[in-house]
Amino acid sequence: MYLHSRSTRQFLSTLCAVSVLLFSVAASSAPPLKTPWMCEQTFPVSQSHHTGSHLGKGAQAWDFALPVGTPIVAPAAGTVRMLRQDSTVFGCDPKFAYDANYIIVDFGDGTEALFLHLQANSSTLSVGDKVEVGDTLGKIGMSGYTCGPHLHFQVQETCDSWWCTSVPATFAEHGDPGAGEELTSANCTQPVESPLDQSPMDDLPLDDSNAASAVATKTPTSKANAADKTTTPTGSADNAAAAIGGNTDLQPAPK
Ligand SMILES: [Zn+2]
Repeated sequence: MYLHSRSTRQFLSTLCAVSVLLFSVAASSAPPLKTPWMCEQTFPVSQSHHTGSHLGKGAQAWDFALPVGTPIVAPAAGTVRMLRQDSTVFGCDPKFAYDANYIIVDFGDGTEALFLHLQANSSTLSVGDKVEVGDTLGKIGMSGYTCGPHLHFQVQETCDSWWCTSVPATFAEHGDPGAGEELTSANCTQPVESPLDQSPMDDLPLDDSNAASAVATKTPTSKANAADKTTTPTGSADNAAAAIGGNTDLQPAPK
């Protein structure tokens, strides 16, 4: 009986260890991510990891140079855990970090995607809503700590705040893109819509240091957009270079 009991304990112990291992793997691995904007649109990385304003909890973030009014879409299925879209306050200073509008899509595995700098009242979603990959989440605007229009995107460990510790993530078609790299979205599960929804926010004055880059980043480079006569395509190298200079961001120090 003793041996049987001992082997049973060993078996249970091993089973427990395997379970813990499996759980920890599941909790730390984000699902394969699709590009977080609409099918066939192309935008560059304007800031990558461990640099500029991407330090501390935001070290694994990317900034993408999306113009104001550009729809952002779900990179994977999930549930809206938090949403803020009442802010019209922004500025090129860290003191504006807490004025960002945001949406968080919880993947249900301990990780979630945080999107920063939404346009005020641009989302039709509510907390608790389920989203499928490709569903529209809102639009890019100027809110929070931002010197020029962009999307701050990070996968983070779910916590009790909107600003949680970012974790490494990759995109299914692009891996872990670096600064200047252009990503063409293959998030094509939803019908293609007009890439730019003109809004009064487009005409907001920016300070001199960011005006040029803000204008440059409003010119999509994909072939799909080139066919749209309402936009003005530019060389991709110019666009990427301008985007790198037009960065901004978030560096809050939540208590
Ligand atoms: Zn950022």
